Amino acid sequence: MAKVDFTGRVAIVTGAGAGLGRQYALDLAKRGAKVVVNDLGGSRDGVGSSDAAAKKVVDEIKAAGGEAVPNYENVATIQGGENIVKTAIDAYGKVDILINNAGILRDKTFTKMEEDNWDGVMAVHLRGAYCVTKPAFMNMRENGYGRIIMTTSGAGLFGNFGQSNYAAAKMGLIGLTNVLKLEGAKYNVKVNVIVPVAASRLTEDVLPPEFFEKMKPDFISPAVLYMCSEQCQDSGMFINATLGYFSRTAILTGPGVVLSDGTKIPSPEEVAENWDKIKSLENPKYFDQLPEMFGVLGPLLS
Ligand code: NAD
Repeated sequence: MAKVDFTGRVAIVTGAGAGLGRQYALDLAKRGAKVVVNDLGGSRDGVGSSDAAAKKVVDEIKAAGGEAVPNYENVATIQGGENIVKTAIDAYGKVDILINNAGILRDKTFTKMEEDNWDGVMAVHLRGAYCVTKPAFMNMRENGYGRIIMTTSGAGLFGNFGQSNYAAAKMGLIGLTNVLKLEGAKYNVKVNVIVPVAASRLTEDVLPPEFFEKMKPDFISPAVLYMCSEQCQDSGMFINATLGYFSRTAILTGPGVVLSDGTKIPSPEEVAENWDKIKSLENPKYFDQLPEMFGVLGPLLS
């Protein structure tokens, strides 16, 4: 089995001052990557800033014999994103790997979801991924190599009470990945998604204590490291990881039903009569991109 090795590779990990990001940064550095440890150092809900978190992780990496530089920018600004990428290029000449991991939570039920809770969470998760990924992607495209990880959540993929802002932002990353996997393909830029469940300050009041105790961030890192490696030739995968369990979640489409010859407009009653067939997920299909979906319309278009 070929070793997953990052010698000569340059990685940016956002939000790497704690939790999952810290673990990825330590593990990448252990396997030879030069790492930009980005962290704004604010509170769990995104208030304030501090250099301490990123600095501490850089010190840990160096103490273990690895190479790393800190960066304290906010991922949610254009300037922050550009400076994070500039830090990598100034220190190490390029960006091979970007892990979009920085995150905050501002949970509220939807009727209590005020604008600043909505916008703040959107800004860090979705806008943050845009702000950092764009300059990184441009460097990767020039170099003909790149591995990008987005971090989504089961809250978005499956739903979780009280997390409408977070779930919406996290699903935005799924749409972004679906497009970047296509736009990155000819430049050898692969874009994949991690769906973690692990103990961190974001989950200390979400996970039951007996789960929290066991679900160490170390369990997520192997899937992320593999998807950051040269060996990984897939793009557009959404990979669940927790406690040594790994699986793929995908958007699948049921076989459906045709209620027209392509000219006759079906009635709402016909839709109602056929609802069970329309919503069936038996023998689903996977479409790698939108035009593939038009394939099923073949006879109706002729
Ligand atoms: P964490 O709070 O330990 O780590 C997040 C880090 O991001 C913090 O160190 C924080 O300072 C940093 N950060 C926040 N806003 C930032 C900004 N604007 N710019 C730069 N850095 C910023 O939490 P974690 O659980 O390790 O979360 C990591 C990622 O994983 C997040 O995107 C989170 O939504 C996602 N996630 C976590 C879980 C889980 O079970 N822990 C589940 C699903 C998704």
